[in-house]
Amino acid sequence: MPGVGRGDSVWLADVLRAEGLEVVELPGWRQRGHGAFSDIRGVMVHHTGSDSATAESIAVGRPDLPGPLSQLHVARDGTVTVVAAGVAWHAGAGSFSWLPANTGNWHTLGIECANSGTSPWAPHRRNWPDEQYAALVGSCAALCRRLGRPASRTIGHKEYAGRAQGKWDPGAIDMGTLRRDIAVRIATPRPAPDDDYVGVLLQRGSTGPQVAELQRRLRYAYAAYAGDLAIDGVFGPDTEAAVREFQRRSTGLEVDGIVGPATAAALRLRLVSSPA
Ligand SMILES: [Zn+2]
Repeated sequence: MPGVGRGDSVWLADVLRAEGLEVVELPGWRQRGHGAFSDIRGVMVHHTGSDSATAESIAVGRPDLPGPLSQLHVARDGTVTVVAAGVAWHAGAGSFSWLPANTGNWHTLGIECANSGTSPWAPHRRNWPDEQYAALVGSCAALCRRLGRPASRTIGHKEYAGRAQGKWDPGAIDMGTLRRDIAVRIATPRPAPDDDYVGVLLQRGSTGPQVAELQRRLRYAYAAYAGDLAIDGVFGPDTEAAVREFQRRSTGLEVDGIVGPATAAALRLRLVSSPA
């Protein structure tokens, strides 16, 4: 059994939990790997090729390719399983601008998502449940943040090995869109637990200091589309439009123009006082 040394990603479970993800630690993950990392430069995303592939199968591998086959497994319900801290056989032959040829396994953390990928031409997120996509975005954001790297350091297997191996995973994932979603998540401190926001309900017609705080948050944190929003404590059509735009740009939120617990948490809305 190759040793897994100090340079390894033994922080994986901690940073994923801190991101608010549902994390399972596969027994033995800290010791699992084909040797130690010394220079982790980014993250590589894959689909397993089957909607039902398990984390255990990633740990064990195949007769022709012993596991671990990646460091993380993301299930369709959004559960993130930490499979290995050491080097895994996920990348194979390929190249990318910040990777010397054929060294992906030694310089990137691999994320295998339980997904068939559908087809190389499928539109973005076909067959990707909200929970799974949100967990993928959160995982990539957490890893990039820990590595001190921007969202651009998340690449797809198809970008690295499309030419060398004909890989097209992750299927039905537009990598530019994924990287934009990761960048937003990196820039946004992780949402507080939804429990903090139980009972929050701001919608058209709401008034008061909590609405003003909502408007302040939108105006200053999301100036790209809410920079002109009046801070008047009245939830009118402009506030609703800004809320809808925030929801549209966020992962996993319903676009309904209503600020309930999930939207409030995603906004990191400061609660000014408990409602009377
Ligand atoms: Zn792959």
